[in-house]
Amino acid sequence: MTDSLNVAVIGAGTSGLLTARELIREHHRVTVFEKSNKLGGTWLYEPRVESDDDVLHLDPNRSVVHSSLYSSLRTNLPRPLMGFSDYSLDDKSYGDPRTFPGHEEVLKLLQDFANEFRVTEVIRFNSEVVRVDSSDGGFVVEWKTMEVGSTEEVFDAVVVCNGHHTEPQVADDVPGIEEWSRKQVHSHNYRIPEPYRDQVVVVIGNGPSALDISQEIATVAKEVHLSSRSTNVKVTMLDGYKNMWQHSKINRVYDDGRVVFQDGYSIEANVILHCTGYKFHFPFLKMNNIVRADDNRVGPLYKHVFPPLLAPRLAFVGLTYNQGVLFRMFELQSKWVALVLSGKLLLPSEDEMLADVYKHYQEMEENGIPKWHTHSLAFKSEYVDWLAAQVGLEIEDRLKEIFGKLFAYYVSHPNPNGFRDLFQMLLMEKELELEKESVR
Ligand code: FAD
Repeated sequence: MTDSLNVAVIGAGTSGLLTARELIREHHRVTVFEKSNKLGGTWLYEPRVESDDDVLHLDPNRSVVHSSLYSSLRTNLPRPLMGFSDYSLDDKSYGDPRTFPGHEEVLKLLQDFANEFRVTEVIRFNSEVVRVDSSDGGFVVEWKTMEVGSTEEVFDAVVVCNGHHTEPQVADDVPGIEEWSRKQVHSHNYRIPEPYRDQVVVVIGNGPSALDISQEIATVAKEVHLSSRSTNVKVTMLDGYKNMWQHSKINRVYDDGRVVFQDGYSIEANVILHCTGYKFHFPFLKMNNIVRADDNRVGPLYKHVFPPLLAPRLAFVGLTYNQGVLFRMFELQSKWVALVLSGKLLLPSEDEMLADVYKHYQEMEENGIPKWHTHSLAFKSEYVDWLAAQVGLEIEDRLKEIFGKLFAYYVSHPNPNGFRDLFQMLLMEKELELEKESVR
């Protein structure tokens, strides 16, 4: 068992709050650095957008807005999947009765969680970490505040929880996109539909944000054209809409505003909206590339958490995605980090960890999975089950079953308009069935 360590946690979003709780439980001394004046990270809705709307050439010195939430956002996972093992939206309601509540509920959950577990007390707000560098047996953390400027302190360990939905990834491989002279926006800077009134809008992407945003814009826009990466999509008008079409990939865009899709359809658009995801970004890590983000692969990292060369004193929580139980997964990662730092759990040797990382890379290559997807779990449960086994917890079958049904529903409905309300009905029917069974 090791002594209590002095640990810095970077970020007070879901991952940072969980990590701080687990470290406190293990009697470590914890400081959470949060650049904003409030906790919540992604779930802290910010009506302001970034001043720089040239999405293809972002000014690195722009005033960054962290959250990418839009005003109307509802969770894309139902309540039972939005929470931690002992603290969940399944048991709590803050006034929104829907199975997929609005973003305000998640923020309230996180605020209550942080207060109840006394995490709020260890957060240093308005403190942006600008440098983390290794020093004898630990790390120098430099942060800046408006009042004091830069300050630095040495910590025994650092856990990076800075999120990865802030630095936009754009569809810059579309032929002609550099010369396209009309407006281009990334979903990071989308809040409300009003600016798109009477416009012809092309939305690139096919994730939940692309779907939500295009449907919302369609209520005010003249036309909405959704373009997915698939090449085999035939142009179709989306069910329930008279002004929204699904297309294949864009073939080329022209500086007169024309957008030509691979399905042969051509339109003149006013706006291209990139709903094309985000990049990992760690501008504060100054460790001679011992761990770095390359083509969205953060590595080398053992099980997406520990860089073998600096483990366990440096760790990352919250990198993995495409999982049905995201919050629970972050909880497991944070517990693992805290237990390893306490010496209650051991990591394999540096060589063994590196071998495991390279085996993962090799498997990806053999299966034709691009580097970009290194931290995607492809909605499979092996990783989460492995983590759960490490820390002696389990993810209940009920949660896996709910996610399995949601996923199947999503995949089997090519245009899952209003999937939240439809799935809510399915879920309620299932609950009723279960109730009937238990009465019998
Ligand atoms: P974040 O929430 O991003 O928190 C990171 C924190 O670090 C922020 O507070 C930030 O200010 C701080 N920070 C960053 N850099 C520094 C620095 N240098 N110094 C100090 N502080 C710093 N997940 C779900 O489970 N369900 C959903 O329905 C869902 N919907 C989503 C919808 C959208 C549009 C997006 C973008 C994401 C959604 N997610 C959803 C995923 C969501 O990101 C995670 O649920 C979760 O919020 C990630 O938490 P995090 O703590 O890892 O990162």
